[in-house]
Amino acid sequence: MPLPAPLVDALTDHGLSPQAHAPLQRRTWWQVGGPAECFLRVGNLEDLRAVARLCSTHKAPVFVLGNGTNLLISDRGIQGVVIQLTRDLAKADPLPADPTVIQAGAGTKLAVLLKKALRHGWTGLEVFAGIPGSVGGAVRMNAGARLGETREVLHEVDVVLPDGSLRTLPAKDLNMAYRHSDLPRGAIVATARFALRPGDPQTMRDQVQAHLDHRARTQPLDQPSCGSTFRNPPGDYAGRLIEASGLKGYRVGDAQVSEKHANFIVNLGGATADEVRAVIEHVQHTVKAQHGVHLEREVHFAGDWSHWPLAGA
Ligand SMILES: Cc1cc2nc3c(=O)[nH]c(=O)nc-3n(C[C@H](O)[C@H](O)[C@H](O)COP(=O)(O)OP(=O)(O)OC[C@H]3O[C@@H](n4cnc5c(N)ncnc54)[C@H](O)[C@@H]3O)c2cc1C
Repeated sequence: MPLPAPLVDALTDHGLSPQAHAPLQRRTWWQVGGPAECFLRVGNLEDLRAVARLCSTHKAPVFVLGNGTNLLISDRGIQGVVIQLTRDLAKADPLPADPTVIQAGAGTKLAVLLKKALRHGWTGLEVFAGIPGSVGGAVRMNAGARLGETREVLHEVDVVLPDGSLRTLPAKDLNMAYRHSDLPRGAIVATARFALRPGDPQTMRDQVQAHLDHRARTQPLDQPSCGSTFRNPPGDYAGRLIEASGLKGYRVGDAQVSEKHANFIVNLGGATADEVRAVIEHVQHTVKAQHGVHLEREVHFAGDWSHWPLAGA
């Protein structure tokens, strides 16, 4: 169903600049996928609340795009309103009343946040070293790696609900687990506060650098991907199972299981979202057949996948 014209008018009247049929391909790290029916940059909390309320009133779906590092957007694109948080919602600063707490807009890139904490000598955010997402995406995914997870440093979040109301939720209420958090239905993370401790800046920098070096040695960081495609099953590694199934280098069109790290699917240049999804499903099918293990996806699918499965697939 096309977006109602009164919604577009109301968004425009509010001072926002909705863009119709905006390409999203370059906004995702896989560099695949179709356009947003309507794309909006939202730069402050009041505008975010208004967008949520207006979309809800006009029954238009809202999708929040973080930094696009964990998303497979369909080649048909995303219906409804796609928002990305900028300006005031993409800044991070220590709280004046308690500088061990850093408050960050959900659109803040994790690398920017980490740099700020290192500069102030506060430890805790090293868990984000090398993770290319945004704060909102990290909360949603409980992002983490060898140095720890979001839940270990997150204190609380402010979320905007579909009726435009604002709610503060302590981290313990989000049931954060391995690459999982329970946000209220339709909630958009607007701000997050992280509780840190004083640390030794040189030790922190060394730890981050060692972690980044390890990533550069083991991950195909020079090719478009969304990081780990699958969650690790209990007691095992998705990458080990994929490699043991002989799938390194398996390819559909320009989407390929990385030769360097089998849990990464890389875009060799001209891949489509359908090709990436075909590789994902072939990997799941093969690992299940050979090892009896169902690999759950870590990456989120977004947009219109109603044409799937493809005829003849
Ligand atoms: C090279 C590479 C390495 C990676 N390494 C790691 C790693 O080590 N550990 C790890 O955990 N992940 C890793 N990732 C995956 C990814 O960076 C994380 O999952 C990250 O948290 C996703 O954040 P994002 O902003 O890019 O979210 P997106 O991909 O844009 O979105 C992911 C989901 O979060 C939702 N979302 C985003 N912002 C908000 C918000 N403000 N409110 C509500 N929902 C929101 C989206 O709607 C979507 O459902 C890697 C990815 C790449 C490309």
